[in-house]
Amino acid sequence: MYRTHTCGELSLKNIGETVTMCGWIQTIRKFGAIVFIDLRDRYGITQLLIQEEKLPDLPLSNLGREFVIQISGQVAERSNKNLKIPTGEIEVIISELKIMSPSAIPPFTIQDDTDGGEDIRMKFRYLDLRRATMQKNVLLRYKINKAVRAYLDQHHFLDIETPFLIKSTPEGARDFVVPSRLNQHQFYALPQSPQTFKQLLMVSGFDRYFQIVKCFRDEDLRADRQPEFTQIDCEMSFVKQEDILNMFENLIKAVIKSVKNIEILDPLPRLSWEEAMWFYGNDKPDLRFDLKIINFKKPNHIFLNYSAASSIVKKIGFKVFEDAETIVAIAIPGAGDYSRKQMDELTEWVKRPQIGMQGMAYIKLQTDGQIKSSFEKFCTPDTLKDMIDRCKATPGSLILILAGKEEKTRKAMSELRLEMASKLGLRNPNTFKLAWILDFPLFEYDAEENRWVARHHPFTSPKPEDISTMLHNEPQIANPDAYLEHPYYNIKANAYDMVLNGNEIGGGSIRIFQKELQEKMFAALGMQPEEYQHKFGFLLNAFEYGVPPHGGIAFGLDRICSILGGSDTIRDFIAFPKNNSGRDMMLDSPSTIDSKQLTELFIQLKS
Ligand code: ASP
Repeated sequence: MYRTHTCGELSLKNIGETVTMCGWIQTIRKFGAIVFIDLRDRYGITQLLIQEEKLPDLPLSNLGREFVIQISGQVAERSNKNLKIPTGEIEVIISELKIMSPSAIPPFTIQDDTDGGEDIRMKFRYLDLRRATMQKNVLLRYKINKAVRAYLDQHHFLDIETPFLIKSTPEGARDFVVPSRLNQHQFYALPQSPQTFKQLLMVSGFDRYFQIVKCFRDEDLRADRQPEFTQIDCEMSFVKQEDILNMFENLIKAVIKSVKNIEILDPLPRLSWEEAMWFYGNDKPDLRFDLKIINFKKPNHIFLNYSAASSIVKKIGFKVFEDAETIVAIAIPGAGDYSRKQMDELTEWVKRPQIGMQGMAYIKLQTDGQIKSSFEKFCTPDTLKDMIDRCKATPGSLILILAGKEEKTRKAMSELRLEMASKLGLRNPNTFKLAWILDFPLFEYDAEENRWVARHHPFTSPKPEDISTMLHNEPQIANPDAYLEHPYYNIKANAYDMVLNGNEIGGGSIRIFQKELQEKMFAALGMQPEEYQHKFGFLLNAFEYGVPPHGGIAFGLDRICSILGGSDTIRDFIAFPKNNSGRDMMLDSPSTIDSKQLTELFIQLKS
C-alpha cells in the first residue's frame, strides 16, 4: 500500500497511530538535530518531524523541494500548533522515509504567494497546478460542471456530442480551419459553437439537449480571451422565451447554491437592451450597485422608448455641451468633497486612450453647502440647478458629466461608473447579482459593407410582431446616411443574455424554424441564394421536414468559474490555457510542421 492517509486528513483523533503517506516536499526546515518537512498533496499539508540522531541512515542531505517521498511514522500532538490549517494540531514523527522521485530545483516556489511571474508559471503549468489556489480553482470548475449536469439531468436534458471537424461558415468571428489530407485543397473548420447541430437535434426530436463543449474562435486577442473556450450549450423544443428564461435562471441559481451555498430566491430582474444602455451605458450592467446614468440630452436615435422622456436640461449655454450629441452624468453620494488632486486624477483617467474622452465636467455638492462646478463660468445658475435636480443629488454628492458622440460617451460613462464603484468598494466579489437583458435589436448596421449583420447570429428569430416587417421589406439600404429609417433597424430579436456582476455569462435566442424566414435572414445579411445554399443548405433542407419551434442558450463556463471563484482571470480556471497572444507556452504552440506533413496536405509555404 502506498499510503494509509492523505496529507489533509490527520488530526488529534489520530494521535499515536502509525501512518504511511506520500506527497511532495513543500519545505524543509532544519533546527539543529531536528528537521521539519511540510509534505503536500491534493488534500493538504502535513508537518513531518525527523529526529536526525535516531535515524542516521535517512538520505536527508539528498532531499530537496518537490521531491516525491513516502514516509511512515507516528502521529503526535504538536507543541507549536497552527490553527490555520486542518492538520495544524498534529505532526508525524518519521520512522521511515523513501525517495520515490527526485526533483530538479523548481523554477518558482510552489506556494500560494509564489515568486513566479505569469510567463514562467505558464511554461511550467504542471508545477503551477500544484499550488493550492490552482487546485482549488480546478476543483471549483469540476463542482460547477457537476452541478450543471445534475440540474440538466434532472430536467431530462440529454448530453449529445457534436463533431469538431465541421464546415467553415464564418459569421462574426473567424474560423480555425484544418486542412484535409484526403480531400486535396479542402478544409474542415472547428466549430465556433454547436449551433446548427443542436438545432438539427431538435429537428430529430431530441427535445432537450445539452453539452459542455469546447468552442473555437479565431478572434483578435483581447485581454482574457481564449481561442478555445468551454460553453454549457443547451437547446429545447416547444418552448417560448419565457420557458427558456425560467429553466436557465434556475440552472444558474442551482449552481450558485451548490458551489457557494447562496440561495437566490427572487426571479432575476429583467431589463430591455434599451433600458440597460440608457441607464448603464452597457448591455451587461453591473447591478451590485445603483449609480444609474442620468441623461441630460435627447439623443438622436437608438432610444425609442426613452427619447421622448428625455428632453432634459433645457438650455445649457455651454458650447461644449451644446455641440455634444450626448451628455450623461452620474451622481456619487459621499464624493462631494473630493480634492482638486482627486478630480485631476479622475479627469486623467477618462482621458486615457482606452476611455478616450477629451475631458470631464463636474458639479461638487460639498458638505459645507457650497456648490462648485468646473463649468459654472459658462452656464447660468438655473442650468446647474436643473442638472442637480435631474440627478436628485443630495449634499455631499459629486456629479460627473461626460459629453460627446453618443456611442463613445455612453461607453466611457459606463466605464467611469464601474471605476467609481470600484473606488467606493461597491463591487464585492462575494455578492452575485444576476439579470436578464432582453429585446436586443436583431440587426446591426455595418457601415463598411453597407449591410446588416446579425447581432446574435443568423438563426435568431425576430420578435413575432416583427416577422412580417422582415418578410415584407427588402433588406437593401438604398441610402446609407438614412439607415436609421430602414424598417429593419427597429426589428427586435427574440434573444436574451444573462449577466452576472457586469459580465455576460450566457446568451441565446428563440430560433427561426421557418424556411422562408431563414432564407430572408440570410438575404438580409447580404448572402445570395447560391451562397446560403452552399453554407447552410443542410439546415434549409432540414427545415422542410417538420421542425419544432425551438430555442436555446449557451453559457460561458470559464467565465462563470472565474466569477464564482472571485477572480477576473479565466486563465486561472482552465487547466492548460493559452496566454494573451493565443500561445500555449508549455507546448510552445502554434509551431511549424515538417515539410512531409505539408506535402501530404498539399500546402506550399511561401518564404
Ligand atoms: N450558439 C450561441 C453562441 O455561441 C448561443 C446560442 O444561441 O445558443 O453564442
